[in-house]
Amino acid sequence: MKVRVDQIDVSGKTVFLRVDFNVPLKDGVIQDNTRIVKALDTIKYLNSMGAKLVIASHLGRPKGERKPELSLKPVAEELSRLISREVIFPGEVIGEKVDKAKESLKEGDILLLENVRFIKGETKNDETFAKELAKGIDIYVNDAFGASHRAHSSVVGIASYVKLSAMGFLIAKEIEYLSMATENPKKPYIAILGGAKVKDKIPVIKNLLDKVDTLLIGGGMAYTFLKAKGFKIGKSLFDAEHFEDAKTLMEKAEKNGVKMLFPIDHVCVKEIKEDADIKLFEKNIEDGYIGVDIGEKTIKSFKEEIGKAKLVVWNGPMGVFEIDKFSKGTTEIAKAVANGDLISIIGGGDSVSAVKKAGVSDKITHISTGGGASLEFLSGKKLPGIECLSDK
Ligand code: AMP
Repeated sequence: MKVRVDQIDVSGKTVFLRVDFNVPLKDGVIQDNTRIVKALDTIKYLNSMGAKLVIASHLGRPKGERKPELSLKPVAEELSRLISREVIFPGEVIGEKVDKAKESLKEGDILLLENVRFIKGETKNDETFAKELAKGIDIYVNDAFGASHRAHSSVVGIASYVKLSAMGFLIAKEIEYLSMATENPKKPYIAILGGAKVKDKIPVIKNLLDKVDTLLIGGGMAYTFLKAKGFKIGKSLFDAEHFEDAKTLMEKAEKNGVKMLFPIDHVCVKEIKEDADIKLFEKNIEDGYIGVDIGEKTIKSFKEEIGKAKLVVWNGPMGVFEIDKFSKGTTEIAKAVANGDLISIIGGGDSVSAVKKAGVSDKITHISTGGGASLEFLSGKKLPGIECLSDK
C-alpha cells in the first residue's frame, strides 16, 4: 500500500503537490474549473496542517516552450478565489526567483509554479529538471490522477529526490473506486466501451475479459469488430491495423464465456455534419454510409443488459455525441447506467461530457478525473505516478 497524505507529518514541511490543473481555457478564461475543485480537499488539508505548499501542474501541450496562452496565472487567480487565500505565483517553474519564493514560504503559505511543461525536460522525465523541482522540498504529494500514467519529472522523477512521497485524497479515491472494477468485482459486471479508437480499448478489453460477464461495444470502435463478424460496415470507422486483434478478443470472449454484444442497428449518414440526412440500417450498412450512432433496437438490448448489472464500467460514447442528432444512443445509455440499481464507474474524457450532457452525472457512483490514466488502470497496468510513491 502507498502512503496517503494524512498518514504523514506535514506540519512545517515544504510540500511539493502535483495536481492536474489542466483546465479548458479560452482567451485566458477558465471554461470549467472542475479539475481545480477536485484538488481542493488535498490542498485545504495540507494548508490546515501547516505545510508550506508548492503546487505544480501542466496545462495543455506547450512542448517545452513558454506559451503565454498556456500560463497557469488564471488558475492561480481561480484557486485563490476558491480557497479565499493568497496564492503566490512567481511566473516561473524553476530558477532563482522560484528558489527565493520557496525559501521565504511560511507555514500555511501557498505557491503555484508556472506550467511545468514550459520546460523541455518535463515530459522526458529529465533528472536534472526533477532535481531542480525537488530543491528545498521535504515531501512530494501526488494528486494528479489524470497525469499519473505519465512518467514525467514532476510526476515520477521528483520522487527520487525527496525523502518521502505520498498520494493525495483524489488519487486515493480513484484507486478505491477503480479497484472495484478490477479486484473482486460485484456481479453481474458489465463493461461498456465505445468511442473511436480501437487501439486504446484493446488492452482494457483484454484485461476485463477475465472479470466481466458482459461487454457492450458501441461507437466507432464497434465497426472493426462487426466487419470481423462478417457484416458490411459501409464507410464507417475501420481500424485495419487492429482487425486481427478484434478477432482474437472475440475468440477469447467466447472461450471465457463472456457475452459480447454489438450494435444491431445503426443511425447512418453519408457525411458527418449537423444537417446530414439520416438513414437507418439493420445489421449491414450500405456502401457510402457511415454509422454515427446506435439505433433504437441496440439501445433496447443494451438497456436490458444494464438492467441486470450490479456493476457497470463505461468508457467511450456510443456515437458522435457532440452532434445532437447523433447523441441519442449515448444519452440513453448514460441514463440507463445512472438510474440503475448498480455501482457505476465512468472513465474520463468524452464519457464524462456525455453523462454531463445527459444531466445525470450526480447519479454516477464514480466519475474518474483521468481519461488515459483510468484506461491504463482498467487495463491492469501499474501507473508510474503511483508506483513511485513511498510504501507504508
Ligand atoms: P475515444 O477517444 O476513442 O473515446 O473517442 C471519442 C470520440 O469518438 C468522440 O469524439 C466521438 O465523436 C467519436 N465517435 C463515437 N462514435 C463514432 C462513430 N460511430 N464514428 C466516428 N466517430 C465516433
